[in-house]
Amino acid sequence: NESGEGAQIKALDLSVVNKIAAGEIIIQPANALKELLENSIDAKSTMIDIQVKDGGLKLLHITDNGKGIHKNDLHLLCERFATSKLSKFEDLESIATYGFRGEALASISHISRLSVVTKTATSPLAYKAFYSNGKLATSSFKAGSDKSVEPKPIAGKDGTQIIVENLFYNVPSRLKAFRSKNDEFAKILDVIGRYAVHAGGVGFSCKKFGESHQVLSTRPQLNLKERIRVVFGTAVANELIDVILDGDEKDEDAEKSYKDEYGLIKVSGAVTNSNFNNKKRIQPVFFINHRLVSCDPLKRALSSIYQFFLPKGNQPFIYLSLEISPQNLDVNVHPTKREVRFLNEEEIIDIICAKVHKVLSNIDSSRKFKAQG
Ligand code: ADP
Ligand code: MG
Repeated sequence: NESGEGAQIKALDLSVVNKIAAGEIIIQPANALKELLENSIDAKSTMIDIQVKDGGLKLLHITDNGKGIHKNDLHLLCERFATSKLSKFEDLESIATYGFRGEALASISHISRLSVVTKTATSPLAYKAFYSNGKLATSSFKAGSDKSVEPKPIAGKDGTQIIVENLFYNVPSRLKAFRSKNDEFAKILDVIGRYAVHAGGVGFSCKKFGESHQVLSTRPQLNLKERIRVVFGTAVANELIDVILDGDEKDEDAEKSYKDEYGLIKVSGAVTNSNFNNKKRIQPVFFINHRLVSCDPLKRALSSIYQFFLPKGNQPFIYLSLEISPQNLDVNVHPTKREVRFLNEEEIIDIICAKVHKVLSNIDSSRKFKAQG
């Protein structure tokens, strides 16, 4: 025994550390799915197909047509803090990919049966590999000799399939907490829908395993309004107005542009006008530097703007994509990357609200003109 008598503190086993870390990132199947979608988008995919069984607890199967993974990278694929996207801390200031922590696949491999089929454009064959606890494993997900865990060549298309089976099989407390597979499926669909709206040029499809019916399906060529129509419905799509602000704009009495003053490079998106008759709350779709985030201060501020325009109890649909100078944005606040922090938050929120107020009132007054004329 290395420690002296009475010592109580000891380092945890690495496998325990990894399982704890996994629990922070992957709380429910939708978290795993989000990470896998982001990886597919990072890999420049234009089509992403998803199959789900039992709300993702039995199976999450993602097929993309992206750049694939080189055979020689497969042994590190699920190693924690192994990534192709970041090499030094400073790179975080200008990170353009979703991923950078190299933790997602590692985490998932610690709490599920994870396998991969992947092919790069230059490789004549695809390779299939199995993982357990961050490492290559045999086809029955057991640790094995180098030879028995080596990726197997198989026929396949360019791109990557990630197959996640039996999520949380070794975390019984977590597994017990899931009440409804339908709820988990709904959360998965919600994440896919949000990315389908935001990621122009990428098509998404989702179905339940064993069923032919597509629950959601978008093509890469659809424009923003068409994507919103597919995901959020015709009633929303028919009442949309564009919100566009580029950073060269400035306040009436200001000298500097929004970009120079607050680091606000651009805002684009679409929101429903005051005609949209809807009582159901729709969580706003916010992306900041292409990350799906929840930004409660912005959400609250926009709600109060809408109070001027909507009858009591009516709810808007809001999709906004913000681009902020990367040096003003901290994406590394939380492992799930769901929250971000940025400088000049209050000012930026005010600018956006003023813009939304303006587009909503322009529409309202043009309507009154028509009515009078
Ligand atoms: P991160 O995305 O933070 O780098 P991940 O654990 O999500 O970490 O992925 C590890 C690495 O695996 C990525 O850096 C990338 O090189 C590779 N990878 C994961 N998914 C895909 C995919 N769908 N297509 C191509 N490469 C992928
Ligand atoms: Mg990733």
